[in-house]
Amino acid sequence: MALLEVRDLELAIAAGGRLLPVVRGISFAVEENETLGIVGESGCGKSLTALAIMGLLEDTAIRITGGSIRFEGRELLTMAPAERRSLMGNRMAIVFQEPMTSLNPVYRVGDQIVEVLRQHRQLSASEARERAVRLLQMVRVPEPEQRVDSYPHQLSGGQRQRVMIAMAIACDPRLLIADEPTTALDVTVQKEILELLQDLQKRMGSAIVLISHDLGVIAETCDRVAVMYRGTIVEEATGEELFANVAHPYTRGLLASIPSADRDVEWLEAIPGRVPAIDQEIPGCAFHPRCAFARDPCHSRDPEARSFAPGHLLRCHFPQEWRK
Ligand code: SF4
Repeated sequence: MALLEVRDLELAIAAGGRLLPVVRGISFAVEENETLGIVGESGCGKSLTALAIMGLLEDTAIRITGGSIRFEGRELLTMAPAERRSLMGNRMAIVFQEPMTSLNPVYRVGDQIVEVLRQHRQLSASEARERAVRLLQMVRVPEPEQRVDSYPHQLSGGQRQRVMIAMAIACDPRLLIADEPTTALDVTVQKEILELLQDLQKRMGSAIVLISHDLGVIAETCDRVAVMYRGTIVEEATGEELFANVAHPYTRGLLASIPSADRDVEWLEAIPGRVPAIDQEIPGCAFHPRCAFARDPCHSRDPEARSFAPGHLLRCHFPQEWRK
């Protein structure tokens, strides 16, 4: 049994009396100790999927219109709200992209970690503070005994992200979702944060879902990769298989747009156009208006998910056309 199983998940946004689909029946599973990368451009539905897993879509215009999310074998979508809340921050946790908006600016960072601990663990105030210092040490915040009393604005961007990670791992979650955890950071700090996540995973044995628009970040970190486009997983495989045997034109476009010191190119390739608006109806393959290889039946028939190679799922009528 997988730790997390998402099956045929459908999300829609309520707008103008209509429900417009934003996630269109995606399925994936995450095993213990595994890192799954979900990659795609902004607006493809990856962050909404994370919020749906965490039960954070209440009070938003997003509705879960179908499917199932099972965690440790139990269905989350029908779980009593109080029970579901007790899992959050405890058995499952999330790290968001921008720590300055996720941390409360008027509370010391130590107090914010202590709050998480005391919500889920029977700890005295001094035990919780001691644990907060240990957590800051684990996430490699320098001088944790002093930093525990700092306010968020007194820390650098990288240190604030480390505090967010400390809060997320405070109760040893089995599943950690990291939603663009390095996007707001410069490249060297980004690398340190990714290494920290990998290191923590090894030490805690938890599973990670890493969400990013950057296939380079995903390539360095993940065991398995799911590529999302317009609410659908268009390609999924182990990192090794995917990068050796890219089959979908969209994945290839994402890869070709990553700068590399090994490739001497004057211009990086870009995927033409942009992700279509939510209310735009596109018959056939949703990528066809941007795909250089589109031809009949791409404009009229949406490709089914099929096995391209062992453990390699794909939605495309003409995989690897660029090799021909
Ligand atoms: Fe391109 Fe056709 Fe494949 Fe869609 S199905 S990605 S349009 S080749």
